[in-house]
Amino acid sequence: MVEGRPRIVFVPYPAQGHITPMFHLAHAMHHQHGFESILVNPNFIHNRLIASSSGATEDNHGVIYANIPDGLHDGESIDFFAISHAMENHMPCHLERLLKSFETVGGVSCVIVDLLASWAVGVAERCRIPVAGFWPAMLGTYRLISGVPDMIYRGLIDKNGTPLQEDATNFIKGQPKLNPEELPWLIGSPSSKRSRFAFWLRTIDRCKSLRWLILNTFHGEETNTENSLSSPRIFCVGPLPTHSPTPTLWSEDGICIEWLDKQSPSSVVYVSFGSWVDPIGDDKVAELALGLEASGKPFLWVLSTAWRSGLPKGYLDRVKGRGILVSWAPQREVLGHDAVGCYLMHCGWNSTIEAVERGKRLLCYPVAGDQFVNCAYIVDVWKVGVRLGKLERREVEEGVKRLMDGCCGDGEGGKMMRRVMVLKEQMMGRCGRLGADAELNAFVDALANWTLD
Ligand code: UDP
Repeated sequence: MVEGRPRIVFVPYPAQGHITPMFHLAHAMHHQHGFESILVNPNFIHNRLIASSSGATEDNHGVIYANIPDGLHDGESIDFFAISHAMENHMPCHLERLLKSFETVGGVSCVIVDLLASWAVGVAERCRIPVAGFWPAMLGTYRLISGVPDMIYRGLIDKNGTPLQEDATNFIKGQPKLNPEELPWLIGSPSSKRSRFAFWLRTIDRCKSLRWLILNTFHGEETNTENSLSSPRIFCVGPLPTHSPTPTLWSEDGICIEWLDKQSPSSVVYVSFGSWVDPIGDDKVAELALGLEASGKPFLWVLSTAWRSGLPKGYLDRVKGRGILVSWAPQREVLGHDAVGCYLMHCGWNSTIEAVERGKRLLCYPVAGDQFVNCAYIVDVWKVGVRLGKLERREVEEGVKRLMDGCCGDGEGGKMMRRVMVLKEQMMGRCGRLGADAELNAFVDALANWTLD
């Protein structure tokens, strides 16, 4: 640890899509603002971060990794419920101990807590340390989730989150069209619906005391910024720079870039459903595989071993030389490669930002959580992608052709290409004195003056 620097402790939700933006925030707070940044993960994540990044130390590009016990056993299946149990029952006392351990070496200036790890808000408050919330996704989803109590009050949803109206378009002013079943708390297995909704209610309740909220969002994503976000104070620091180094939980397959180097410009379909998505089922995997084959385009597909049982018989032999499958790709490098012409995705927020920043058009098949909201922005607001309804083979084939045939002409693909470049410029234009950096500066000022706020 560096003597004399003010210190910030970062607590992400323990999943790749949350660790990535929290790491980028910690990196920026260290390199741009001189803080000692400490990223706290449960043991099961920490061990994987260390194992997957060859040569990693406890100090990563200026960000210090700290780990706390999680109560999980070796070989235990780690799902949403196991993680919730660890967060609620094991991690709070260990975080408290860690925070108190800094008291003799200058203390902690702030704890920044991912809203999905809201258990840590109370811990920081007990230790009398200023606490800020972090929302790793877009403002639109935050508005939707934080609007839940108001929606219950207005009779739009019942107290279990079930919509009481046919159409969820007008739940939040300015939100693009959503079907009721696409509300983030409704997606997933019906048996766990109650506990998912309870998780969100608990999160909203715990975050009521937050004075500040930092979002990995950029203003251009909103069609209407009117909202009821007077408290906490909002800092839109997105897009956090995705070009800085990123810790990953899996080792990257080195073949990807070598293979892309041999393909023609804008010819390849990149396919990935992110780091953690409910299985889409063998039949969907088969349809997707056949659609990619029928499109005639080369493809690079991130497909975990668990999903490969859905591949049609003899498939790998048939597409040999034209398509490759990997388990984990260096995604940001892949998306930045000239050979990639479009990205067939699940609409995870990090992946969306990474793709737009690299000027790629999108084929969307949202599966869970905030992905339907993100998809609505991609397809209906920004018009830089096409939505795949059922993921049937013909739809995949036609979707790929619609996007990829002509990236410069007046056809649909060309128009989307031009729109994604404009969006990219808007997004990148925010990274600077008047945009994201200014918001981060404003947060640092607020922190310095926190007793006066
Ligand atoms: N990712 C990666 N390699 C892969 C698949 C995903 O590096 O093969 C990264 C991707 O770049 C992104 C993150 O994993 O930063 C996934 O986050 P996102 O919010 O898109 O989706 P989630 O996994 O949270 O559903």
